[in-house]
Amino acid sequence: MTIETWNEEETYALGKKLGEQAEPGQIYALLGDLGVGKTIFTKGFAAGLGVKEAVSSPTFTIVQIYEEGRLPFYHFDVYRIGDPEEMEEIGYEDCFFGEGVCLVEWANLIEELMPKHTVWVNIEKSLEKGFDYRKIEVEYENSGN
Ligand code: ADP
Ligand code: MG
Repeated sequence: MTIETWNEEETYALGKKLGEQAEPGQIYALLGDLGVGKTIFTKGFAAGLGVKEAVSSPTFTIVQIYEEGRLPFYHFDVYRIGDPEEMEEIGYEDCFFGEGVCLVEWANLIEELMPKHTVWVNIEKSLEKGFDYRKIEVEYENSGN
């Protein structure tokens, strides 16, 4: 599914809608360059799950856990990870294969760790359509896999 957004609020709203629909055990991978809107999307997603606390990028902790929503929410930002082994050290498997919902910014950096059932969300700019335009592709697992 491809969605076009023309401002930050629309990207937030898409994240919120997906957060409202999220199910236990799901994992979302967010791809896209710096400043494209991954964290904006994530803030909407968290709100959709019922997280009231302000969500910010967990750059220095790799993962931030929010327990107050409809489901446990694990927000990863793996931008600063040097080696996928660091993921083992923080016990990512309990999150990825648990009953909560995970969202991973920069998931391409740990692609080999991403489970088959990952929902891939790719956000891109297209400057000829304007500075605030974003094309957002949401790709659910192929049921054949
Ligand atoms: P990332 O986490 O991908 O590095 P952020 O979400 O932190 O990016 O920042 C995205 C920036 O782009 C914000 O300053 C936001 O206001 C701006 N922006 C402009 N248009 C959009 C849009 N359509 N969707 C999301 N963010 C947008
Ligand atoms: Mg970010």
